[in-house]
Amino acid sequence: MTAAERPTLVLVCQRASLPWIFEGAVRAGVDVVLVPRPDEEVPADRLPPGVVELLPLDPEGDPAGALGALRERHASRPFQGIATLYDPLVPFVAEAAELLGLPGIGRDTALGAQDKRVMRERLAAAGLHVPRFVRVDGPDAEPWLAAAGELDFPVVVKPAHGYSSLGVTRADTPAELRGTVAGVRRLCADKLGVEDAALVVEEYLDGPEIAVESLAAGGRVRVLSVGYKGEPEGPYFEESVYRAPAPLPDAVRDAIVREVTAAHAALGITDGPAHTELRLRGGTRPYLLEMGARIGGSGVSHYVASHVSGIDLAAEAVRIAVGRPPSFAMTEGLAAPVGAAANYIVPCGGYGRITALHGLDEVRADPRVDHVVQMLFPGDEVRPYPDFTGYPAFVISRHDSTADAEDFHAHLERTVRIDYAPGA
Ligand code: ADP
Ligand code: CA
Repeated sequence: MTAAERPTLVLVCQRASLPWIFEGAVRAGVDVVLVPRPDEEVPADRLPPGVVELLPLDPEGDPAGALGALRERHASRPFQGIATLYDPLVPFVAEAAELLGLPGIGRDTALGAQDKRVMRERLAAAGLHVPRFVRVDGPDAEPWLAAAGELDFPVVVKPAHGYSSLGVTRADTPAELRGTVAGVRRLCADKLGVEDAALVVEEYLDGPEIAVESLAAGGRVRVLSVGYKGEPEGPYFEESVYRAPAPLPDAVRDAIVREVTAAHAALGITDGPAHTELRLRGGTRPYLLEMGARIGGSGVSHYVASHVSGIDLAAEAVRIAVGRPPSFAMTEGLAAPVGAAANYIVPCGGYGRITALHGLDEVRADPRVDHVVQMLFPGDEVRPYPDFTGYPAFVISRHDSTADAEDFHAHLERTVRIDYAPGA
């Protein structure tokens, strides 16, 4: 490929240590201009694969300034696409693409895929399964309270612009609700710097949790994997496992694929990747929790989807982001599984100052394990929920079958463990 044919993608706020999207860009033959995360130092002599340039911007702190800088960069040296895997910035990226005439889902679609109030309203208007819900807007705290009291309890309170389960909290009775809402708002103020954060109060959905990875092009939706995410009951919703493909009756899996495909249409996600989370109410009826117009898990979703479907989600998403067609024929429906993949999120299992993490070295040497992404180390302080510190580590592995992945996770539960300093 000559330089002129080689497209450039601006990738916004991707953690440099997570390789999947960078490697996907290399496979797609696309150069990456990385906008580093403000909290991460990326040394210029150790750039991730495919990265040809660093463009330091602060799209969260100063979106107007960042848009201006992108416009200048594009005017002097045009790039062909802009993307992010970081959910809070999906609307920013959609806006930048719209302003610069680049491929994208558009601002309005991005809003519906990011703001949980808008998402709920659009899914409900399209006749999809959604829990009954009430919006909690602005500082004027009380008008929602009566409406929320009419919901079936328990309910779940969550930030409209949340991510990583931050602040998501179950309330069991109407009497508890006011306190729960105040608590979630306090957390949003402390952790996100947002006062009087907009929230959603919605009915609690029981049943297994399901994650779906998909890719759309020209309005056609290919479902790459349907995976199992445990059955968290709250009151806080720490992530635990991800194993795909999920063992499900055909009829239930078909219903999930139909619901996710319809949700793409309802939200207008016609091109690019999506990561969808649902719960199977009563074990069978899919209800959407949320849908993100991005590759999930900062790229972990690529790992899962590619091992389960054989389709290179990261490379395909990069192609679509620079306006190229996917490299395979886009047929609708679920891709036949060709393998199994899993992510085990090491539980904190306590709180205080970490003195040791046991078992991770053995895990790193296990041939089934491709990545151990460690985020917490001895000396780090873990605060008790709901004051979320972050996950200690991900163990990312591939298997011949989901049953093998289950056995492996049972083994990890027995062998990976964190010690804390006494007296915390
Ligand atoms: P976030 O964007 O912070 O990940 P989600 O809506 O995905 O927010 O909620 C995080 C987790 O909380 C979900 O994965 C699920 O386990 C739980 N959860 C959220 N809403 C509900 C609900 N209505 N019923 C049951 N569990 C829920
Ligand atoms: Ca989520």
